[in-house]
Amino acid sequence: MPELPEVETILQSMKASLKGHSLSSVEVNRPDLRLPFPPGLSTILLHQTIIQLRRRAKYILMDFQHGWTLLIHLGMSGRLFIDPARQNLPPRKHEHLVLWTSNDHRVALVDPRRFGMVCLFQTEQEHQQPQLAHLGVEPLSDQFTAEALAATLVTTRMSIKNALLDQRRIVGLGNIYICEALFRARIHPARAADSLSKAETKRLCSLIVEILQTAIAAGGSTLRDYVHTDGQPGAFQTLHLVYGREGQPCPACLAKGYSIPIQRMTQSSRSTFFCPHCQKKLRK
Ligand SMILES: [Zn+2]
Repeated sequence: MPELPEVETILQSMKASLKGHSLSSVEVNRPDLRLPFPPGLSTILLHQTIIQLRRRAKYILMDFQHGWTLLIHLGMSGRLFIDPARQNLPPRKHEHLVLWTSNDHRVALVDPRRFGMVCLFQTEQEHQQPQLAHLGVEPLSDQFTAEALAATLVTTRMSIKNALLDQRRIVGLGNIYICEALFRARIHPARAADSLSKAETKRLCSLIVEILQTAIAAGGSTLRDYVHTDGQPGAFQTLHLVYGREGQPCPACLAKGYSIPIQRMTQSSRSTFFCPHCQKKLRK
């Protein structure tokens, strides 16, 4: 599933190609994804100019000049391709929504498993959108401080891994970047969220920011489905230290001269990867 760095990477190329251009065609090729496509989608958006492209959590928001916003969520396997029209390629499989822009770009939402979502609402009613209403702090915003992180973690005894996955607390983080951040912060993923010391919270906060920024610079992580809007993969997966590396030696331990295999465990039916030596499960 794309996480914040992957969505941000897609957003940046959408911005570069689409901002300031209008839609010359809107094709909806099936009735629904996870939700039905909004009624009147084509009529409402046709010939309207895209004035801004934004991201909130893992949602892409396209603002149009007549006061409507199109929300796109990529779900598990969704991909967005932007093709300059003159490439004239045959359509891909599973192109459920295709937008043509006045500068001859073709934007295709491809989603074989259809866990993605497309919604349309009036921009001024954004705060009432159910998808956006209860979202937590953006980790790359000024509001994401060690104090803010501590304030949300102290309210729950759930594991730190699951607390970081909770989009009502912090948005945009998923399995990959949480495993990587907790490893780098040397915090065991099963520790209770409210058990972190001030120093650990501070370390975790700055490592979350650092890892997201590094991943964005690398164009995100490509494991299965995610690719850039031109079809190219991201590169951050080569910098994963623990994610997907069960049984391989922990790089931090190896650097100190001993070989400790990375372990995998299941938390809320998702795999967590960690080093049992670097990330000690402390006393209560
Ligand atoms: Zn280790």
